[in-house]
Amino acid sequence: MIGGTKVRIQGGKAHQRDYAQKTVAWCLKRLKLDTLRTLDLDVRLKPLDDCCGWCKPQGESNRAFQIVIGTNQTLRNFVMTVVHEMIHVKQYARGEWLMDGEPEAWGTQEILTDELWKGDVL
Ligand SMILES: [Zn+2]
Repeated sequence: MIGGTKVRIQGGKAHQRDYAQKTVAWCLKRLKLDTLRTLDLDVRLKPLDDCCGWCKPQGESNRAFQIVIGTNQTLRNFVMTVVHEMIHVKQYARGEWLMDGEPEAWGTQEILTDELWKGDVL
């Protein structure tokens, strides 16, 4: 648990799970998702052929998500993909995904990742 958020991280190597855990925890605070009463994140780490990662809501609620992060990328891109998918979680959970959430996610991922990278997070 991180605040009201249940986070499960499976797959990948131990250090990848550790980076993913720290990045998710940082994003929950930074994106103010730690104020939600409930949030359930099921994070899977595995090699992906065609994309860096994805995120989709589970069931009817906008409080449970499955996130998949590709492990076959550089550490920086791995972390940035977690940030990217957490922006989508925020968009879904806050009802902000109206037409297309990608411009915000792609536009913000570098800025947030730089911020995280410079902070003493990882
Ligand atoms: Zn996206």
